[in-house]
Amino acid sequence: MAKNRDVDIRIPTLVLGNKGNSKQEKVRIENGTLSYIGSLTVGELATALNIRSSDIIKKYFLKGLMLTINSPLYDELIGEICLDHGFDFSKEKENDIYSFEDIEVIDDPKSLKERPPVVTVMGHVDHGKTTLIDAIRSSRVAEGEVGGISQEIGAYQKVCQGRKITFIDTPGHEAFTAMRSRGASVTDIVILVVAADDGVMPQTIEAIDHAKAAGVPIIVAINKMDVPGANPDRVISELVEQNIVPEVYGGDVIVCKISAKKKQGIEELLESVLLQAEMSELKANANRFAIGTVLEAKLDKREGPKATLLIQNGSLRTGDFIVVGTTFGKIRRMTNDLNQIIDVAEPATPVSVIGLDEVPLAGDKFVALDDEKLTKDISTAKKLAKEDETRKANNITSLDDLTQKVQEGQLVTVNLIIKTDSTGSAEAVKSSIEKINVEGTKINIIRATAGAITDSDILLASASNAIIYGFGVRPDANVKNKAAEEKVEIRLHRIIYALIEEIEAALKGMRKKEEVEQYLGQAEVRTTFKVSKVGTIAGSYVIDGRITNSSRLRVLRDGKIIYEGKIGSLKRFKDDAKEVKQGFECGILVENFSDIHEGDIIEAFTFVEKED
Ligand code: GDP
Repeated sequence: MAKNRDVDIRIPTLVLGNKGNSKQEKVRIENGTLSYIGSLTVGELATALNIRSSDIIKKYFLKGLMLTINSPLYDELIGEICLDHGFDFSKEKENDIYSFEDIEVIDDPKSLKERPPVVTVMGHVDHGKTTLIDAIRSSRVAEGEVGGISQEIGAYQKVCQGRKITFIDTPGHEAFTAMRSRGASVTDIVILVVAADDGVMPQTIEAIDHAKAAGVPIIVAINKMDVPGANPDRVISELVEQNIVPEVYGGDVIVCKISAKKKQGIEELLESVLLQAEMSELKANANRFAIGTVLEAKLDKREGPKATLLIQNGSLRTGDFIVVGTTFGKIRRMTNDLNQIIDVAEPATPVSVIGLDEVPLAGDKFVALDDEKLTKDISTAKKLAKEDETRKANNITSLDDLTQKVQEGQLVTVNLIIKTDSTGSAEAVKSSIEKINVEGTKINIIRATAGAITDSDILLASASNAIIYGFGVRPDANVKNKAAEEKVEIRLHRIIYALIEEIEAALKGMRKKEEVEQYLGQAEVRTTFKVSKVGTIAGSYVIDGRITNSSRLRVLRDGKIIYEGKIGSLKRFKDDAKEVKQGFECGILVENFSDIHEGDIIEAFTFVEKED
């Protein structure tokens, strides 16, 4: 069976050849960079890097992560492992079967045949959508419809003039928009129901907007023609105001007058749908593996995950392997809208299938393949990508982000990379950060090493949404640019307590926006005197600007910074002073610093919020 079908759903890049082409390699190393598509398992990555799987497993076991040789790895772990082993890494853009949703299928025109149109009913509440769907469903039971259409499947097909029309059961634009917002477009024609006694209402206009945005043609069904107050002309003129111009007014919109309740005009409406479908030239190639969209899905107690699929191109067969959203499966059984078991479902057919591994989501796209391993691989990659996305969404990529999430009361985890000027300071910064304990927050230090901030730090930060802290180091211009490109935040500090204070404030949701240093003034130390239990007071003279009692201080000796810290106290004679200006004398106590000498310069500064 499969031999007769075109397997090359990938256009323009072919991965699966229908003439025995070899598959695209999943991973390769070139010029020190490991490139991969989808995801890699521990074993695959170890082989590619020529290291032992057990080394990876051991390393992460110590970090509390249980892996086996077959565990698929997150992008950030792949990145971290590569960098640890001296390789760069890059995930190949997914111009391949791994992103089958984005593949535009181009069929040979010779293999295309007409397919049934897929119709959605929309309109204002109470204008008769549900009644119309039911009227169509129960109208003129065609041959073979013994037992009637199953309510369960969420879509059904009607035969009119020997041609099929597929109706999506869920009326209203919520379902339509929900699908569209997930990138799925299943509808070829919208039937816009407008009650003849009510006219164009807000949801009528919304439905028109949605159909127009999706580029889907509209057929107007003026409903409730049986009601005494029915005024179809008014409806038509209101529609013209919305740029829905009927044929009688020289436009191209088909208008039908119906009564859904009395089942009048239904046949004509269906004929109009066929006419519109003809104009839209809807075609498909039944001779390829199926692609399509999930209309509904649920967990059946007895049969497991059960999904209604709309086949949009190709044919689905019992026994096919499929990837659906982030899950996969093998079609074990397929039933149509009449609840009959079928083996083949052609384009535009809705079918209910069992055999999936998990319950997919409505709007998920699917593709059928003849390679079980590949379907599993793709679904694993998709699952990981999705988890990654969720984690990223919850993750913190900047301090402002962090402050905001904390203020919103979210539990936060922040990933940090620490680069310092020496191994000793790396340890010191790391252990100080690890001591920070703020409820509802967690800090992960994913790297703490001595050395300059490099491209590889930026890559790791980007892959794992980390903030980089530089202590006594500065990034060069290239690295700065790379960080800006990858939207990685780099924070630079020279004092541990300032660094800790900053992180703590952010974790408590108390950090102000970006702060910058502002110079206040300088004082020269003229004499010093020791006060027991207090420390050494620097009798000083303010030579520039001012010193305030909330200043931060920097002690300079021979032009070098020998200490940075906070002010302990500021006095004018014996009294506490708020501020001492240039030309005045004062006593300054530098908190936790006694080694102050005559001739030292005390510089006062503060932090102010940076203007955006
Ligand atoms: P929906 O909210 O658009 O799905 O509207 P419904 O199909 O639930 O219909 C709303 C009400 O209008 C119900 O009481 C229907 O019986 C009634 N209705 C629907 N179509 C017609 C019709 O053609 N004529 C009359 N008289 N009533 C109708």
